[in-house]
Amino acid sequence: MSVWAILVAAGRGERLGLDQPKAFARLGDEPLLAEPLRRLDGSQWVDAIVVVAPPGWEEPAILLAEELGCDKVSACVPGGETRADSVRAGLAEVPEDAVVVLVHDAARPLLPAEVIERVLAPLSEGWDGAVPGVAVSDTLKRVGGDGGVEGTVARDGLWAVQTPQAFPADVLRRAVGGGGDATDCAGLVEARGGRVKVVPGDPRLLKVTTADDLARIASWLP
Ligand code: C5P
Repeated sequence: MSVWAILVAAGRGERLGLDQPKAFARLGDEPLLAEPLRRLDGSQWVDAIVVVAPPGWEEPAILLAEELGCDKVSACVPGGETRADSVRAGLAEVPEDAVVVLVHDAARPLLPAEVIERVLAPLSEGWDGAVPGVAVSDTLKRVGGDGGVEGTVARDGLWAVQTPQAFPADVLRRAVGGGGDATDCAGLVEARGGRVKVVPGDPRLLKVTTADDLARIASWLP
């Protein structure tokens, strides 16, 4: 079985307030992109990697992969306007004979090896996709623009979903090829009636959005 990983790293990261894109923000002594790249490259389950870089940052991304000795990196392409566009750009580099595609956010650098294994397992049981998730424990409220509470959302059965997300390659190609946008790939697969399974995620898969997230993740670095 050949498993291809698409590492989407083309987000601008405006909420970090930096001059460079989020993937090149410093995490410890390295650009953020280094950590997820090394972890995917080191996974026994991943055969090859496509990096989707911020437009104009393909060369620094390739140099970084070389410096880290990540020899599974097969291509590095510029991303698009939305996350779905970036996934589309990455998927165009995945060969026809790939069996499974894993899509991972570079903004979630601390990728535990066991989560990769967990999202791959349901694909052999016939699921159209598998995603890591964490059950929501806080009370959820819908809040208006003026800060006023408009309602409380029942949290039963609600999960916060992370990446890496795994799909049979043909399922992801059909879902992504149909155009459309969603904040994750599973959303595109679900929109076409695909059955997606949630497996246990990991709190360390926190997504970097603000400078505080970056500091918290840096404090968790092994
Ligand atoms: O926008 P958000 O922070 O949710 O992005 C999640 C992941 O998708 C990040 O790793 C980001 O780099 C990537 N992304 C992308 N292309 C975009 C927007 C986001 O590759 N246009």
